[in-house]
Amino acid sequence: MGIGHKPKEYSAADSPPPNRLNSDSDLLRRIESLGNIGHWELDLATGQSTWSEQMYRILGLNPNGATPPIDLALELIHPDDRKQVDDAMQKALESGDLLKIENRVVLPDGSIRHLISEGMVDRNSAGLAIRLFGISRDISQEKQKEENLQKSNLYLENIFNTTQDLIFLADENGAFLKASKSCEKILGYSQSELKGKSFRDLVHPDDFEATVESRKKIMSGDSSSDFQNRYFKKDGSVVYLNWSATLDETSKTVFAVARDITQLVRTEAALKADRQKLSIVLDASPETIWALDRDYRLVTANTEFLRAMKDVFNWVVSPGDNLVFGIDLPAEFIQEWKVWYDRALAGETFSIVRKVTIMEKGGYMEVSFKPIFEAGEVVAICCYSMDITHRKTYEESLKKLNVELAESNRGLEISNKELEQFAYVASHDLQEPLRMITSFLGLIKLKYSHVLDEKGLQYIHYSVDGAKRMRDIILDLLEFSRIGTQPESKQVANTADLVQEVLLLNKKLIRDKNALIHIGPLPNINCHSSTIVQLFQNLINNGLKYQTGESSPEIWIEGKESETEWEFSVRDNGIGIESEFIEKIFVIFQRLHHKEQYSGSGIGLAICKKIVEFHGGRIWVNSVPGQGSTFCFTVKK
Ligand code: ADP
Repeated sequence: MGIGHKPKEYSAADSPPPNRLNSDSDLLRRIESLGNIGHWELDLATGQSTWSEQMYRILGLNPNGATPPIDLALELIHPDDRKQVDDAMQKALESGDLLKIENRVVLPDGSIRHLISEGMVDRNSAGLAIRLFGISRDISQEKQKEENLQKSNLYLENIFNTTQDLIFLADENGAFLKASKSCEKILGYSQSELKGKSFRDLVHPDDFEATVESRKKIMSGDSSSDFQNRYFKKDGSVVYLNWSATLDETSKTVFAVARDITQLVRTEAALKADRQKLSIVLDASPETIWALDRDYRLVTANTEFLRAMKDVFNWVVSPGDNLVFGIDLPAEFIQEWKVWYDRALAGETFSIVRKVTIMEKGGYMEVSFKPIFEAGEVVAICCYSMDITHRKTYEESLKKLNVELAESNRGLEISNKELEQFAYVASHDLQEPLRMITSFLGLIKLKYSHVLDEKGLQYIHYSVDGAKRMRDIILDLLEFSRIGTQPESKQVANTADLVQEVLLLNKKLIRDKNALIHIGPLPNINCHSSTIVQLFQNLINNGLKYQTGESSPEIWIEGKESETEWEFSVRDNGIGIESEFIEKIFVIFQRLHHKEQYSGSGIGLAICKKIVEFHGGRIWVNSVPGQGSTFCFTVKK
């Protein structure tokens, strides 16, 4: 209840109140002050109210001011509580019951106080209510405490409901009083299921002793942190927990927080296993591998490195030893290594090859240096060295071999050139005497045929025939030796046109033989076109020539393009070739038939091979004797 008045109207400047309670003795005043209690009285007949001094203080008013009339006093009551106060007073007046009410008042400075008031109604002999009197106690402080407590309970509840960690409140026997909501997710138990359970129900048997020990410490007042154990989840699986706990001495309640570190433990275990594997691999390596920090101190090394240091320098080195300043070795040797270490420490990755001078066995070593970065900074360097003596020797012998090969290639080139020159000169120069032989044989035949008998004439015929064949051979040889020597550069040519050129040249022969030529798709290619004409000429000619004569020759010519080359085929329906000869026929002067059977010099396919190889391609034949042959060749793009 709040009974007050407007401060402006009843200020300290006003005259002292005439209606201060008579009973307001010094003792009562002190008691009221101690209990923060004020008392009041309301004359129901006059509407006049009377307050104790402490009542004024509680309401933040000047005790020397006049007591306000009841309607104004009611204005001090918090607007939201006015109706409730009104109703309670009304009820007390009507029923005669004790008045008991808790409400807020708004003080002149705007602050709010909580009051709890109790009052009583006095009645006259006729039963008419004449007076209401009572006490009001300022309970603002208790209220504040209560609110604070409520707030902190709310915070705590929030923490219990939102934390990712596990929080337990446990009694001195280890039974859980309360568990955070996260327990459901981490342990699979609901909060209510955990209530009353104890750590004994959940802890892994292997961690039981240690947990009991840790609990003892906590109960003796030592707060514990970083204690780890395993709990069983509801589904029987295991979760790793990291605990911090403390004891509230007064309530003997243990407040414990646990973090689920299962993932961490598993990752660490996997990492450990990886590290173990890595060190096995490193130790199995025949190379020496080591790492050092920014101060040249050994961080880690494989067995081979430790062994080498022992064998070579008689130094039993271990992590932490300084590889530059901690070893008694020739200054220039150490200086050399320091320079390399410094380069790597400056962030460079590189390898060096050094001739081993310090080891008795000598040889070569390749040492690689690699900086290890952390957040952009070089924190260490890793080095590995390999004995490359064998590689070095091999490289050197390879170099020597290459020089020798280049020399013999040069020799071969020269002799090839000379041979070509010889073939050219020989065939060229042989033509003249051959022409003489042929023409003089012609003259002999013309002039002396009447004196020669049949045999003589036959000899002349053989001689002319031989000379003619020799001329063909010489011309073919000349052609063969010329391939690749022409200055003509490569140009794009339509192979269909080139084939047509050949067919035109052989028009008569084709007609005479009643041959059928089928031309499929033929691509444009980049080539020395005159040689490709020659190539098709030889293959088409052979196709027409190597026939049984029983049926008309048929030839199919096609070409296709792939990513790296063009491929052509010239197929015939001729006599075919036995499989054992399909390589041989490309060798110069290799013929499979007698000249009486099929004429020729045995150079045609050798010329084809040379032309194809000159174009970076291959030539081969597929054939079934009696059915025909397919000559294929490629031209490199
Ligand atoms: P030739 O001047 O003898 O025709 P080639 O070098 O052109 O010389 O051919 C070599 C040999 O390959 C021929 O003697 C022949 O036996 C065989 N030959 C070539 N082309 C064919 C073909 N289309 N069918 C069957 N045999 C062939």
